Amino acid sequence: MQTNLGHILANRAFLSPNLEACVGADYRYTYAQENARANRFASALKANDFKKGDRIAVLCKNNEHIICALMGAAKMGVVAAILNWRLTAPELEYILNNCGADMLIYDDAFAPVVDELKGNIPARLFVSKFAKGKDQDFEDFLAQGSEEEPSIEAGGDDPCVIMYTSGTTGKPKGAMISHNNAFWASLGLTHTLPWGYKERYLLVAPLFHIGGLSPVFANIHKGLTTVFMPDFDPVGMYKTIQDERINFMMTVPLMLMAMAMVPPDVVEKFDLSSLNFFVCGASPVPPSLIHLYNEKGFKIAQVYGATEYTGAITFWTHEIGMDKCASAGKPVFHGQVKVCKPGSDEEVPAGEVGELCLFGPQVFLGYWNNPKASEEALTGGCYRSGDLGRIDEDGCVYVIDRLKDMIISGGENIYPAEIEQVLQSHPAVAEAAVTGRPDEKWGEIPVAHVAVRPGETITEEDILQVCRDNLAGFKRVKEVHFVEALPKNSTGKILKTVLREELAK
Ligand code: ATP
Repeated sequence: MQTNLGHILANRAFLSPNLEACVGADYRYTYAQENARANRFASALKANDFKKGDRIAVLCKNNEHIICALMGAAKMGVVAAILNWRLTAPELEYILNNCGADMLIYDDAFAPVVDELKGNIPARLFVSKFAKGKDQDFEDFLAQGSEEEPSIEAGGDDPCVIMYTSGTTGKPKGAMISHNNAFWASLGLTHTLPWGYKERYLLVAPLFHIGGLSPVFANIHKGLTTVFMPDFDPVGMYKTIQDERINFMMTVPLMLMAMAMVPPDVVEKFDLSSLNFFVCGASPVPPSLIHLYNEKGFKIAQVYGATEYTGAITFWTHEIGMDKCASAGKPVFHGQVKVCKPGSDEEVPAGEVGELCLFGPQVFLGYWNNPKASEEALTGGCYRSGDLGRIDEDGCVYVIDRLKDMIISGGENIYPAEIEQVLQSHPAVAEAAVTGRPDEKWGEIPVAHVAVRPGETITEEDILQVCRDNLAGFKRVKEVHFVEALPKNSTGKILKTVLREELAK
């Protein structure tokens, strides 16, 4: 079976040559054109002495050239690391040295940071896009190659991509995704959701997150058009949905919250009738958001996903039922979730809380250059998600919290997410997070970090009262820290390590 991503693109180009593959502000490539561009990239790599197993890195906003490079590299067995362009030079330097990329493709907008990196990273070839800068232009690089289909050497178990996890729990680790992983993840997605041939997908979630990348594998495999949007802009999204007749897109809760803030008279100007649903995830999707969008006439499909699972683990859809919308839904086709005792392969009794352990052909190969972390993550033939959760009688998975965020106070387990929901129910609270602080008597105590809505006032006593009204004594926060805003990563996940560091100062 040929599961190489390059084969999949070539196959799609053979079956649907004239179907639009990639669309952006100033380009529209059919599958035949996209495959020809990927072939050029592959043979240009060869002309520059790249061989199977070498790495390249990409520092670019969402655009077709990332997919062209990734698919071309896949055809050569070269592995692509897709970098988060929000990172600073020292953070990028760490990753580029970790993966040992020989080539860096970057958008010209990132030239200043690339200048800082040069000399401190192993790359020998720099290729830029969008302007004729100091380095070779991306289209000139492609011109070195030929459109002929190369002989594909990499097989299903070879890595095709290294995705650096966002590091909410420490230094980024390079999760190695194989061609087989991408193949099965795309099957899992398209067989679980109504993801149809010739439909149109808006890519606004950044490609450096698996939630951005994984759907593109599915689009190529199944034959959909991907419309690329480099930057999130709520009104621009509505306009693109209308102009490109978009059927669905991947979002994170923050994006949907921002889109919900657009005044109704502005939204009404757009014809959004093509839209089937928004996929939303990367962090818990509040049921209130699902209800809000329901009232507006839009559907949300919630996804629980992880880089190490090549994307989606479970989906909640309306078909499962609104009564289950607080759950993350059911595992994807060909996927399996078991709930085990933390640190053990033993399953907990049905319905009880434990660590969510993920099985299936989507489970990644391990972390690049990090056998210790790989061994820890992959014990027992599964990926140990580090998430606490339970599965109900209908097979719906509830993600409760990160295992590392759980607070143990006086021998009782406290899930910060439960307290956060209570705090967020107060109208003056814009956002809230709870972390543990070491305590001599209790072991740990829960501490709240609260950002107040502009124009509102709320005191520490008010917060403590909300806790007294809604939570058992041991779960009530013992301290409140008011902050301007909570520290977050680019998908809107709260960086609790930063909050804990602040507390320790
Ligand atoms: P790191 O692993 O370095 O901490 P990260 O957590 O951001 O980084 P990702 O692979 O980007 O790594 O995110 C996966 C995690 O995101 C999951 O393990 C889970 O904790 C959380 N997550 C994703 N989707 C959901 C969801 N729908 N509900 C709750 N949590 C979610």
